[in-house]
Amino acid sequence: RSLNGKVAIVTGAGSGIGRAIAIRLAEDTAKIAIWDINAEGAAETARLVEAAGGTAIALTVDCSDKAAIQAAAEETRAKLGPVAILVNNAGIAPFTPFMDIDDDLFDKVIHINLRGPYLLTKEVLPDMLAAGWGRVINITSSSVQSGSFAQGHYVSSKGGLMGMTKALALEFAASGVTFNMVPPGFIDTPMMRAAPIDVEAFAKTLPMKRVGKPEDIAAACAYLASEEASYITGQTISTNGGRYMG
Ligand code: NAD
Repeated sequence: RSLNGKVAIVTGAGSGIGRAIAIRLAEDTAKIAIWDINAEGAAETARLVEAAGGTAIALTVDCSDKAAIQAAAEETRAKLGPVAILVNNAGIAPFTPFMDIDDDLFDKVIHINLRGPYLLTKEVLPDMLAAGWGRVINITSSSVQSGSFAQGHYVSSKGGLMGMTKALALEFAASGVTFNMVPPGFIDTPMMRAAPIDVEAFAKTLPMKRVGKPEDIAAACAYLASEEASYITGQTISTNGGRYMG
C-alpha cells in the first residue's frame, strides 16, 4: 500500500490516535505534516516518524484559528508540496452536564471539532482538485450512534462532522477526492484516560473485552487513504470492537 510520497496533514497528531495515524501513513510512505496545538507532542511524533525512517514536519497550530490554518497550510506546501491527504483528527471531548454548558464552551467545542475541519478542508481541497486525487478522512465518534452522557456539545460537533463528510462526498464525488469517516469506539489514549470512567471495568462490558488501540484507528485510515479505497466515499469504517453495528 504505497502512498508514493504523497503529502498528508494529520491534525492533533501530537498524541493518541493522531500520532498513530501519522506513524502509519509514514510507514505507507506518505510525507507527514503533524499539526497540533501542543508543540512538544507534535515534535515527539515527528521524532518517532523520522526514527522509523519516515519524513515529517511538526507545526504548532490551533486548528480552530483560520489565520493559523492558512499559515500552516502554506508552510506545509512550501516544505513538503501540495496536500493530497487530510486527516481531521484534532478534537476535545469535555464532559459537562447539559445545563452547565456555557455558550463559550459550546462554541469552543464546535470550533475545534467541526469548524476547524470545515476551514482546513476548504484550505487544502484546491490542491486535491488540481491533482484530481485526494483523501479527506474525518475522525468522528461512535457517540454519534450511542449518545454520550454529559457530552451534548461534543456529540453535536461530531454529528455535524459526520453530516459534512457525507455532503462533501456527494458534492465532490466525480472529482477524484473521497471523503470518509472513522468513528472510534473506546480507544486507549490520554483523552480516554481523562474521561470519568473506570477503563478496566468498562472494557469487560465490551464484546471483545478490551478497549481499542490507536493503531486500530490508524489501520482504518491507512486503508481509506490508499489507492485501493478509490471507489469508497461518504462511508464509515466503525472501529469499535463490535460495540455498535449498522
Ligand atoms: P488526545 O487528547 O490524546 O489527542 C488529541 C490531540 O488533539 C492532542 O494532541 C491535542 O493537543 C490536539 N488538539 C486539541 N485541540 C487542538 C486544537 N485546537 N488545535 C490543534 N490540535 C488540538 O485524544 P485522542 O483520543 O487521540 O482523540 C483523537 C480524536 O479521536 C478526537 O477527535 C476524538 O474526539 C476522537 N475520538 C477518540 C475516542 C477515544 O476513545 N480515544 C473515541 C471517539 C472519538
